[in-house]
Amino acid sequence: MPVLPALDIVYWPAVVDFKHDSLKARPDGDILVGFVEGSLRTNEDIENAKLMRNKCQLIISFGSCSCYGNVHGLANQWDIQKAINRKFVGAESITNESPHEPKEHMPGFTDKIVPLDEVIKVDAYISGCPPKPEAIVSAVQFLLGQKPFPMNESAFCADCILNNENCLLEHGKLCFGPITSTGCTLKCTNNGDPCVGCFGPSKSVSNRVGKLNDMITNINQLSSGDKKNLYEFLSLFLNVPLMAGFDLSGDILKQIKIKGEAKTTLTNLPSETEEISSKIMKFLRDNRDFTEISTVCDTCPRIINSNSTMTKVKRDYEGLPNMDDCLIEQGYICMGPVTKAGCGGLCMRVNAPCTGCFGQTEWVADQASRYADVAIKGFNVALSKDELLSQVKDHLGTFQKFTLASNKAYKGGE
Ligand code: SF4
Ligand code: SF4
Ligand code: SF4
Repeated sequence: MPVLPALDIVYWPAVVDFKHDSLKARPDGDILVGFVEGSLRTNEDIENAKLMRNKCQLIISFGSCSCYGNVHGLANQWDIQKAINRKFVGAESITNESPHEPKEHMPGFTDKIVPLDEVIKVDAYISGCPPKPEAIVSAVQFLLGQKPFPMNESAFCADCILNNENCLLEHGKLCFGPITSTGCTLKCTNNGDPCVGCFGPSKSVSNRVGKLNDMITNINQLSSGDKKNLYEFLSLFLNVPLMAGFDLSGDILKQIKIKGEAKTTLTNLPSETEEISSKIMKFLRDNRDFTEISTVCDTCPRIINSNSTMTKVKRDYEGLPNMDDCLIEQGYICMGPVTKAGCGGLCMRVNAPCTGCFGQTEWVADQASRYADVAIKGFNVALSKDELLSQVKDHLGTFQKFTLASNKAYKGGE
């Protein structure tokens, strides 16, 4: 679907020469959506981020630099003055006879590299290094509201063959039939699977909505299968294709409605649907990890529990892995099992291990320890945890290459 004709691009310094002052001159909130890329390293970066926040109704953190700090974030291992000296004075490539830190026309360095959401409120994230075109298109299509929902009168329960004592909700399984529109012919519940909301909201809710509300009230007690259903629901109900790598951080839906300028079909929802959506959104806002439950391994074509076994850790340049077996089992550090899905398994398809650019699935302090636990538990690995970790020379550069600046649990820096 062509999206460009529907857009009015008003500021894009890297591509079209709209000057900074033209952005400053706009009234606050004048721009519907801002895509902001890059990690923040200077006072000027921070000023620009705040300016964009003021001028845009919605902010999308665009790319892994903006979402997580990316590889530059590894600089947070060192004090800023050490980093400046290294760059301007100590680097081997410097040929100036009296190398020194420049003082004129400098933007002013901050102590740490930070991702965008450390400085301003972010409404949605598109990670990836680089982001996938599909994620960009799905974000724009979502914002344009190009897939209308039927919004029929009745909720899906009216058409469900389990609308009796076999109802999934009544048996403690998350099912969104009570707030989803009728009209689908696939009917997931015919196969015993819950409704995940792909027909969008209905005008009225079914009498099972209270049970759904109860489950959402206790959202942090959902089973992992129900969490996956919730993730699918969010993607479908909110009109965002699954696995697009386009993560809503919370109240983007409400903001669009309040501003009233974007075309969204999700208006005039029943109060029960509003309440359930709000609870989910609030939970997501407070628990960003929650949606990050599918990993790159889920989209990787390679065989896990293959005929290969890791007996030593190989560097990427050692040997040539076969194209079929899991790369961990062939001895390589592949970050797939601890990396958020969204890329479709890009690197493994060209015989390279995942290095984690879509961001980690959990934000614990010691990512190296977590990785070793996950690898040893889920894959053919004939090494102890200590053996595996001692064979990896650069723990931060390997296990938090893209995300160190985002990991609040990391307190390092010399
Ligand atoms: S809650 Fe789900 S399983 Fe129960 S009747 Fe409604 S659609 Fe069917
Ligand atoms: S660890 Fe890497 S190679 Fe193995 S299944 Fe996961 S993503 Fe694929
Ligand atoms: S496989 Fe890993 S490193 Fe490669 S694109 Fe996907 S998330 Fe990024």
